[in-house]
Amino acid sequence: MAEDLLTLPQKKNIALVAHDNKKKDLLEWALFNAGSLKKHNLFATGTTGSLIQKALGQKVTCFNSGPFGGDQQIGAAISQGHMHLLIFFWDPLNQLPHDPDIKALLRLAAVWNIPVACNRATADFLISSELFDQKYTKILPDYSDYLNRFNK
Ligand code: PGA
Repeated sequence: MAEDLLTLPQKKNIALVAHDNKKKDLLEWALFNAGSLKKHNLFATGTTGSLIQKALGQKVTCFNSGPFGGDQQIGAAISQGHMHLLIFFWDPLNQLPHDPDIKALLRLAAVWNIPVACNRATADFLISSELFDQKYTKILPDYSDYLNRFNK
């Protein structure tokens, strides 16, 4: 397993995503935690990212807007070991056109065992953890049986 997929570095690449009804929540959270977020690299889906960059004055690397592939781009980065933590305030009260992409993103975050916050309380717990600013080695399930199932 590549080192990138097992290690969360001290300075992390953090993905931020908020559905429209949750954008205010995420912006408030990001502003409150601006000092902690400054120590890391921020990434986001398009609209979320431009709002956060404007509010924080910190560079945010923006992927496509969520319904146009942004969630999938973040999922791809997770599966390459390039995204270390996900703050994803999704909207539990509405169906969205890109529901399959949302499920796929949460699925890949689980496969690669990265920390994920899907609401503000969990985001508070994550950002106040001493591990937030530390190097961390993940323990992954042993996927080798599955990956080698046709090599036996
Ligand atoms: P947005 O995408 O930040 O471009 O609004 C978020 C989403 O709906 O997944």
